Amino acid sequence: MAQIANQPILNLDGFDDTVTIASLELLRNGDTYLSRVRTEEGAEGIAVANDARLRELYPIFVRRIAPFFIGKDAKQLESLLVELYRHSSNYKLQGIALWAPQAAAEMAILDLLGKLTNRSLGNLLGGVKRTKIQVYRASSHRGNAPEEEVEYLKQQAALYGASAVKFRLGGRMSNNVDSLPGRSEALIPMVREAFGPEFTLYADSNSSYDVANALRIGRLMEEYDYHFFEEPCPFDHLWETKQVADQLRIPIAGGEQEFSLRRFRWAIAHRVMDVIQPDLHYFGGYLRTLRVARMANAAGLPCTVHMSGSGLGYVDVCHLASCIDDPGPHQEFKGESDIPFQCATSSLRCEDGFVQVPTGAGNGVTIDPDFLREASVVKA
Ligand SMILES: [Mg+2]
Repeated sequence: MAQIANQPILNLDGFDDTVTIASLELLRNGDTYLSRVRTEEGAEGIAVANDARLRELYPIFVRRIAPFFIGKDAKQLESLLVELYRHSSNYKLQGIALWAPQAAAEMAILDLLGKLTNRSLGNLLGGVKRTKIQVYRASSHRGNAPEEEVEYLKQQAALYGASAVKFRLGGRMSNNVDSLPGRSEALIPMVREAFGPEFTLYADSNSSYDVANALRIGRLMEEYDYHFFEEPCPFDHLWETKQVADQLRIPIAGGEQEFSLRRFRWAIAHRVMDVIQPDLHYFGGYLRTLRVARMANAAGLPCTVHMSGSGLGYVDVCHLASCIDDPGPHQEFKGESDIPFQCATSSLRCEDGFVQVPTGAGNGVTIDPDFLREASVVKA
């Protein structure tokens, strides 16, 4: 599995030019953070960073990551990221502190390489396997009455034509305490009844339970034919999560807060989870995420990416799902964005439960030039 994780991913075949990075900047317009890379010849790549994290972690991007890339050849991105991890003892910041700023830089550089080679991100990252992505809608509610939540889920599914929904169970990192007494036990049968037997249902307890309670809730989900149970136990408690996965038939999903490639390898090899969910931003970008996907798929497990990024995160999900061999049946769709942009090759709307993957070069979207002009360069 280590061999699979270490294989090169970037496909730059036939492109021999050196791509010297002249600048790598973090821009801010309101609450939106964007990363922009430029070459000496004036080529450009842009990505939308994880706003919530960069608001706090921008000094790491500006002081540690951007300067490292100046003068380097963007084509060497894969080996540069290995070097960056060791550079200035950056590895001591492993976790969101390093990975969210690294993801911002990596995603801009990938956009640049895609534009220079006229390849979409999927084609740059191993080849597009599908151009339409089936999506689910997720509810972020907790603590509302079960009847209200069922209505909300029905409304969301109808609005997007989604064939799957995900909702929240438990109290979030709550040591078995529900957000409202009895809410989870009531919701599980109610949602199934409301959507009928064919609809795909997922639920996420965000680390709510110990083993005994996760088994109790998981068995109820099995009774009502749910399709996965996300983060049943504290997310870093791999032992407990494995105990639950071993004893339940329902697939266990997790990984949005895993920061180590080697721990993912361990979790996949020991079947701690059945659906592997690295987060693009929290895990350091497309390349690291795809290494997890390759390991998961090699073990016969789907890799369904988690998306912490608002902004254009749902576009990133489309690109990732386009090039992962087995991304699972549905990807999360967060199709709302305040960022003004255009996409010539996809409406990026959910139509009949599917979103079309952009096919243009790089990330395939053009952010409004005025929006970029109005942004200021972030200083440390
Ligand atoms: Mg989750």
